[in-house]
Amino acid sequence: MSEIEHFSEIEHFDEDFARVERWIEQYFARPERYPVLPRVAPGEIEAALPDAAPEEPEPFERIFADFERVILPGITHWNHPRFFAYFATSAAPVAVLAEALAATLDVKVMLWRTSPAAAELETMMMRWLGKLIGVPENWTGIIYDTASIGGFSALAAARESLGLGIREHGASGRDVPVLRIYVTEHTHSHVKKAAIALGVGLENVVHVACDDAFCMRPDALHRAIDEDRERGMRPLAVVATIGTTSTTSIDPVPEIARIAKRHNVWLHVDAAYAGIAAILPEQRFIMNGVDEADSLVVNPHKWLFVPMDCSALYVRDESLLRGAFSLVPEFVLTTPERGVRNYMEYGLQLGRRFRALKLWFVLRHFGARGIRERLREHIALAAEFASWVGAEPGWEVLAPHPFSVVCFRYRADGMSEAEAEAFNARVMQAVNASGDIFISHTKIGGTYALRLAIGNLRTQRADVEAAWLAIRDAAAAAA
Ligand code: PLP
Repeated sequence: MSEIEHFSEIEHFDEDFARVERWIEQYFARPERYPVLPRVAPGEIEAALPDAAPEEPEPFERIFADFERVILPGITHWNHPRFFAYFATSAAPVAVLAEALAATLDVKVMLWRTSPAAAELETMMMRWLGKLIGVPENWTGIIYDTASIGGFSALAAARESLGLGIREHGASGRDVPVLRIYVTEHTHSHVKKAAIALGVGLENVVHVACDDAFCMRPDALHRAIDEDRERGMRPLAVVATIGTTSTTSIDPVPEIARIAKRHNVWLHVDAAYAGIAAILPEQRFIMNGVDEADSLVVNPHKWLFVPMDCSALYVRDESLLRGAFSLVPEFVLTTPERGVRNYMEYGLQLGRRFRALKLWFVLRHFGARGIRERLREHIALAAEFASWVGAEPGWEVLAPHPFSVVCFRYRADGMSEAEAEAFNARVMQAVNASGDIFISHTKIGGTYALRLAIGNLRTQRADVEAAWLAIRDAAAAAA
């Protein structure tokens, strides 16, 4: 690269960066100046963009102007304090600074050598987080982009641990038993995707029955495993969830762990959303039984104010994970160090982002105390919201709400299930059309439920009150 070209890359960087900094600052000061849900039609953004990359360089000024003109109007604002859909998440500004630094360094955390500080910070952050939520000290933590990929990796390790030689010989064209994975209807769908990718097959993902609180029934699990064994099938793994996606129910991990152990089956615990709550002493019990499991996933990018993406997988025996994935091509053999962790050996990816940096910044910025205060606030707000719903004639809370998510609906006397579903869907659409509030829905055992999730750093009581008012007004209008 010539000096002139190189210079052109950093020319005006200070002004451009200052411009972005000012924009970010005003954004974080008041993200609610934007509608939480954008008012764009499908295809509108695509149509506003040129059909091909520019031939000639463009000034930053013009690029940024288009960011504001074309992109921003089409953004769903997850940082908006009235974002109550799915799992509400938000980016701590301090993590944005870490992301800028990580992008600047642009290291690939594949080998220890490709960035020793990034590799060792990852080890330490997994230790810090593990201690905060009560992961057994001798487990190993690895950062992935998402819980889906962490969960897939854990199940790949489980498959390898069966000793069927699938890694070497594949699963086709030879006599390999049918593998089975045990979940419930409330387990997150990534387990089914993992079953597809691992050659287990969707029909071998077994739905174990739940109790009235939407939690896996240990007796049903026990029976399902026994029956499969009798049919010559091979149980591969049980996936228990702490904080299911729809209702945030908690599967009974201690009992499930006992059964998994008795049958010598891998237990993966999915605590993607709720695991962070174990930072609270009064919620630590949710981790009971995890020390008897084989792997656990928890997402700092869900309820720990770390921006997408950052998901932690902990495994009891890291050699099983390495055994599933380690494949060292010749060109990375330029790493003579011994006794170091080369993170590329623990998953599909070779190059990996420097995600530990933002986790480090966030944990230090808030401190454990600051995080606890915010989680407690979210849980208390959800409880208060549920009490308002429960006290209002015609409204009902549809599931226990151990964390910060409430499932509820309106159902007037005499309304059929189908009418209640249509009515609540209309309420949700009206609330979301306002652009002020964003809620989502789910189905719980076939029952249509509205769902309010609290988890945003900026959400205050007034925002939750506004949501309840808007929901009631929409219901009154729809009646
Ligand atoms: N597990 C649970 C319980 C979830 O609720 C979710 C997403 O909401 C996931 C896994 C998937 O998380 P990710 O988006 O990190 O893959």
